[in-house]
Order: sequence, then structure tokens, then C-alpha cells
Amino acid sequence: MLNFRTSSVGYIILFLTLQQACRQIDVSPWFLVALTILYVILLIWGAAEVCSNFYVKTYCKGNSSEKKIALSFDDGPDGTITPEVLETLKKHHINAGFFVTGEKAEKHIELLQRMKAEGHIIGNHSYSHSRWFDLFSAKKMAAELQKTGDIIFMATAQKTLLFRPPYGVTNPTLARVVRQLGLQTIGWSIRSLDTSIKDENKLYNRVVSKIRPGAMILFHDNQNRLLSVLEKIIVYCESAGYTFERPDKLLDINAWKS
Ligand SMILES: [Zn+2]
Repeated sequence: MLNFRTSSVGYIILFLTLQQACRQIDVSPWFLVALTILYVILLIWGAAEVCSNFYVKTYCKGNSSEKKIALSFDDGPDGTITPEVLETLKKHHINAGFFVTGEKAEKHIELLQRMKAEGHIIGNHSYSHSRWFDLFSAKKMAAELQKTGDIIFMATAQKTLLFRPPYGVTNPTLARVVRQLGLQTIGWSIRSLDTSIKDENKLYNRVVSKIRPGAMILFHDNQNRLLSVLEKIIVYCESAGYTFERPDKLLDINAWKS
């Protein structure tokens, strides 16, 4: 299995073997450089590709071949947009997943309570969503996740087991912290790009063209443009015969600590 441990062991063994060969027979030392570059590319790919399972096991889509999909929303809750998203979900009887940041969640405890009361699940998406999150020490990372977990607990009286890494980036420190805290890492299979695609038709077409059985769609409930597109996407999926599952049910995992 291609992961951080097996790749690192493989790299060290190959490096030492090649180094020996460079000394004993006429092998160019550039092979050592090429090998190291390949290894670094692999580390970067593993960090950037949320579903690579390179550093930490990440749940990205359901296994079922049935036409079941799930919706997830990151970076909220937002005082204006999240209530509208909740209304749309209620209208279509959909339970979704909200990956909240602690910083916003503590300002909108009532929205977390509403999410829980309406049957949605809530996951941890760090406290600050800092762009430097992946460079934090394990201690600082753990403090952020614990603080956000406590805010979710304060609002819902339940401990969430779900964590979605900010920017979808993983690394060995994050993997260690996630294991220590007993969290499950959640990714996605369809990135809507609703934070960068400004044209609503493009956004709609991008998402619906990627719908497959088991898909987990990533949206952001802090993006205004989502509001006009979300319902259209839901209607398309329903007319195409898809049903919406809550993310934990689609992934067949527990969302809350029992
Ligand atoms: Zn995010």
C-alpha cells in the first residue's frame, strides 16, 4: 500500500542501495538526486490529495453502487447563508454534514443547535482555519481541534468524531493528532469549487457532471453564490434518481461518540 511509512522505508532502502552502487560501480550520483525528487513529489502529492490515504485514512465516498449521495458544507456557520442552506435542506428532507470552524461556531451556537435538531451532523474543521494550520506543532493543532470539539459539545451535548482538514491538506503531524484524539478524517469526492467559480451556471454544470453513486459533495456555507445553485443541484439529483444520505450513513461510520 502506498503510504507515508512504506514510501519512506522504500526511499531509504533505495537511497542506501544506490549510494553503495555509486561507490562500488560506475553509477551516476544523479540517480540519488532523481530518487529524492521523486520522493518529495510523492510527499507533496500525499499532502495535497485529500483522498490519497497517504498520511491518514480518509473517508471520501460511499462504497454503495446505489444512487446515494451526500452533501457537506465547510467553513460555516454563517449568520446569513447557513440558515438559508438549512431551509433548502429542510424543504427537500435532506440531512447533511456541516464542518464548522470553532471561531465561527462559538458566535452561532444557535445554528449548531438547529443543525443538530434538524438531523444534520456536525464535524470539526479546526478553530481558526489558519492558512498555516498544516505547519502548526502537534500541540497547537490538538488544542485547536479540542477547542472546536468542546464548542460543538457545548452546543449539542455530543462529541463529534468527524474531522475535515482545512484545505484538505494532510501531513504526518495532523495524522498523529487525529489518531490521538480518536477522530475520523473526512474528505470528499466532488469539490464544487464554489469558493472560486463565480459563474453560477459553470458551478452547476461542474457539480452535476460529476455526480456518481456514493458521491460526497463539498460546498461552503459561507458563499453567497451557493444559495441560488444548491437547490438546482438538489432538484437535478432528485430527477436523476439519486437520494440523499447523511454523510456518516453514506460512509458507514459513526458521527457522534456514543
Ligand atoms: Zn475549509
